[in-house]
Amino acid sequence: MLLIKNGRVLDPATKTDAALDVLLDGDRIAQVGANLESSNGAEVFDAKGLVVAPGFIDLHCHLREPGGEMSETIETGTKSAARGGFTAVCCMPNTQPVNDNASLTRSIVDRAAAVGAVRVWPIGAASAGSKGEALAEISAMKSAGIVAVSDDGKPVATARLMRQVMDYCTPLGLPVIDHCEDPSLFAGGVMREGPNSLKLGLPGIPAASESICVGRDIEMALLTGARLHIAHMSTAGSLAYVRAAKRNKLRVTCEVTPHHFTLTDEDVRYDTHYKMNPPLASRTDRDALIAGLADGSIDAIATDHAPHHPASKDVEFDRAPFGVLGFETALALGLTELVDTGKLPLTRLIELFTTGPARVLGLERKIAAGGPADLTIFSTDHTWTYRTADSPSKSRNSPFDGRSFRGAPMATIVGGKVVYRRT
Ligand SMILES: [Zn+2]
Repeated sequence: MLLIKNGRVLDPATKTDAALDVLLDGDRIAQVGANLESSNGAEVFDAKGLVVAPGFIDLHCHLREPGGEMSETIETGTKSAARGGFTAVCCMPNTQPVNDNASLTRSIVDRAAAVGAVRVWPIGAASAGSKGEALAEISAMKSAGIVAVSDDGKPVATARLMRQVMDYCTPLGLPVIDHCEDPSLFAGGVMREGPNSLKLGLPGIPAASESICVGRDIEMALLTGARLHIAHMSTAGSLAYVRAAKRNKLRVTCEVTPHHFTLTDEDVRYDTHYKMNPPLASRTDRDALIAGLADGSIDAIATDHAPHHPASKDVEFDRAPFGVLGFETALALGLTELVDTGKLPLTRLIELFTTGPARVLGLERKIAAGGPADLTIFSTDHTWTYRTADSPSKSRNSPFDGRSFRGAPMATIVGGKVVYRRT
């Protein structure tokens, strides 16, 4: 038993913001109330001055195992996730081999149970090998534990295939997550097309590359009634499509990454830590995303944690792989960029890390008796400096290395156990 005392319990699901204690019994919440007594030898966690929130869920990360263990493993990735306050992470299937079958899904689930610091919820491939041809073993993977399907790294190749994937996933209750881009427009680009790509002389990717595919997918969601989730959305054009779909009561949701609400294409320099896909967007797009985060049009903040070992990033900009680390800076960027600036209330930020992503997966997340004992405890004023060298991740590819923050995860509790505590 673990008794969390003196904290400010902030739960968007139950609209709670009060000084309450939370008693955990095994992997469940036993009781929530004022001045709970420590009895039956419960261990006490003093959360004075800290916020106690439901456990954060990350809908989008890459743990690289199997096949990419030079960059990350389930063990190192989930340790990094725990440091970031995440209690559950959804890992994309673009490993080597691709997670497109039940036995691989099962091996990820088993490996995570053995060495994972936090819960790992795998996402299965939509098509075999994510090649965009035949459907993957979606139903068998669902029995093995996947929570969604995606060909992330690339879009579901054609509208026809997307229709099949959606028709297959709808009765199974699985959301289809798409990495939206039009390959013919994307071709060869390394950053967002615009005045800054011209200035740097780097090949650009137009914003329309993303929004065209978002439009296509929403048409398919209308046709099939499927649950569609847009991954790492980065443009105002895409957001306009999602808003229209929501107005029309389609089951369409979307996520935004911390780097897309923090940085713009004006920040890009000849440093491969600024190379990610989708690329950093224009200031107009970034401001539109922040408005969408504030007004509820965007459902979740997802990290797209994409580790690449230093040697692979230490090459010319156009040869480097796309992607940046995300777990350990996500909450601090949200607090600094969105809450401290007055753009979002703190409750809304927490919703984007908890209730929001849970809803995308068809789950509930709340601090109430009987619920899972997964909690994220954080400070809104602890000052610290992020150093990639201190990270349990095997990779160092973050544009935020050396940045100082106010606000940090202080403890991560999964299934009633403290899996990370900031000292
Ligand atoms: Zn992607």
